[in-house]
Amino acid sequence: MDDSHRAHLEALRADAAARIAQLTVDIDALRADRGDGNADDEHDPEGVTLSAEWSMLAGLREQELRTLIEVEASLERVADGTAGRCIDCGAAIPAARLEARPTAVRCVACAERAGL
Ligand SMILES: [Zn+2]
Repeated sequence: MDDSHRAHLEALRADAAARIAQLTVDIDALRADRGDGNADDEHDPEGVTLSAEWSMLAGLREQELRTLIEVEASLERVADGTAGRCIDCGAAIPAARLEARPTAVRCVACAERAGL
């Protein structure tokens, strides 16, 4: 696989890691806010807002972690030379597809067959 694909993946990995770090800071800050006073989600309107925000941030972090895992897996495929090949049929994945979806592991036809 060419270096631009690897560079693209490395940039994605750095972005995801940075967002995870930021979300972790935000989640910790929120947790510290909740520690102030006795936040009661049932009766304190602000408590409800905080926990809604908390679940949103936790959900985002979850998503970023999944992205990071996918990107790491793709970088391993780059390292072992299998990147850019469809895992189902072995055909080359078009460069334009990899550009749009750097973590794609299937060609368009197989992705459609797999219902992705
Ligand atoms: Zn295929």
